Amino acid sequence: MGRLTCRCGHLIPTNHDSLESYRGDLLPQIHGDKWAEKELEQLKALVAAIESGQSLADFTAPGSSELVVDALLPWKISGDSLAEFSRSVYQCDVCGRLLVETNRSNEFRTFLPESDDSHHILDA
Ligand SMILES: [Zn+2]
Repeated sequence: MGRLTCRCGHLIPTNHDSLESYRGDLLPQIHGDKWAEKELEQLKALVAAIESGQSLADFTAPGSSELVVDALLPWKISGDSLAEFSRSVYQCDVCGRLLVETNRSNEFRTFLPESDDSHHILDA
């Protein structure tokens, strides 16, 4: 599991496999259309696969159980393309800083909140 070190010294886990209240995705508006186009392509591919007789498992993860397919299908339709165009955002539990990924993977800039009520802004 990776970690980011906040400027205050707190270590922030960067495990992307779990849903954490201190983590989010930022989709710059300039990439919104590209993300929507890619999501539409995936939806069209799903419809074509179903129309050709493929199962959801064949389309998503051949040989997988229904449980795995249910978990992976949303990622295949939109999550994969969201990950391509979005940037990761983390909020430090200790000082409230936002760590926003730049357009370079794993490079972050920090922003301090102006008030204490902004310390858990990603879990609201
Ligand atoms: Zn911090």
